[in-house]
Amino acid sequence: MTRQMTTLGNELARQGRSIMSLSQGEPDFDTPKHVRDAGHAAIDAGITRYTDIPGTRELTQAIIRKFQRDNGLTFEANQITIGVGSKQVLYNALQATVDPGDEVVVAVPAWVSYPEMVKLAEGVPVILPARMDQGFKVTAEQVDRAITPKTKWVMLNSPSNPSGAVYSAEELKAIAAVLAKHPHVWFMSDDIYEKLLYTGKPFPTMAALVPEIASRCLTINGLSKAFAMTGWRVGYAGGPVDLIKGINLVQGQSVSHTSSISQAAAVAALDGPMDFLPPFLEAYQRRRDLVVKAMNEIPGVKCMKPDGAFYVFPNVDALLGKKTPAGKTIATDLDLCMYFLEEAGVSVVPGAAFELPGHFRISYAASDAALTEGMKRLREACSRLA
Ligand code: PLP
Repeated sequence: MTRQMTTLGNELARQGRSIMSLSQGEPDFDTPKHVRDAGHAAIDAGITRYTDIPGTRELTQAIIRKFQRDNGLTFEANQITIGVGSKQVLYNALQATVDPGDEVVVAVPAWVSYPEMVKLAEGVPVILPARMDQGFKVTAEQVDRAITPKTKWVMLNSPSNPSGAVYSAEELKAIAAVLAKHPHVWFMSDDIYEKLLYTGKPFPTMAALVPEIASRCLTINGLSKAFAMTGWRVGYAGGPVDLIKGINLVQGQSVSHTSSISQAAAVAALDGPMDFLPPFLEAYQRRRDLVVKAMNEIPGVKCMKPDGAFYVFPNVDALLGKKTPAGKTIATDLDLCMYFLEEAGVSVVPGAAFELPGHFRISYAASDAALTEGMKRLREACSRLA
């Protein structure tokens, strides 16, 4: 649905309509120059051939250094896998481990691909709703109640797409205490938005926080969001040797590996200066504040101010049942998002896409001008609902 909204918006834009695109989950910044330079240099140096399936030695070592430096996690080379984006790593991990009928606990709202990937592996997604009044975070009790003998994984993403919610160290420890009671359950930590954090506190990740369960944790990360490298397609994970071996088997019979050029650029990103990041974060925070304030000024819209990522996820329950000027009833969040797109020229994504209807997602990884205009249009569109 996220792609669909973007495609529809692009189509309207091609027809000459002015569309504010706030549906895409990718930074509007360019990849830092030193990383682009490393990509050019890799091509010129002939780094254009097949690499090892788990990834190049150079990038594997850079990832080991990153995990140690940023997360206090120690891995050997055979505990690292590099995929075509973190999406590939998530997909490989589920294909490698989920047998038909196995259950995977997914806290929602969740990234659209989680439940679909579980189903592709013939598993059963067990959906745990985390509503706005619980900060869009599941509690340890909810996780405990969801676990059965068939549970294979608990998947968690913090900071979260689509809510921006960030789990605290205490909240993760409470979930770890539940996992300790269920030794057959593994934990998948999707840390892709790690660097987009506005708490001022260190980023907590499960494997480092609770070493006792690190032997069944897969810690997933990637270059797409922090380094504005979505198109380069580099993601990676650290985890137990046998799991990584399984992931690499799936990878070896599908995509082989991500581009050799992208891997070389990723070494420059992970080992290089991070001074490009504070200006990105400053811009994201300013945009988040602008959007949250604008949303909360609209009667019928409630918006939490999240601590991470580049999304907000306003609740619009109070707008459902209203009528558009053309007399059409807005029955669902999808109807509302179509109304926003067609009548106001703003593309956003319905909460149903993330398994939590009654909301919609705004990506504030867009220019200040697009956001300001987008908010104005949404306010006007809402005021026309009767
Ligand atoms: N995980 C989450 C929560 C995401 O939102 C995304 C992308 O939007 C990904 C993983 C995949 O990112 P990539 O494959 O570009 O690393």
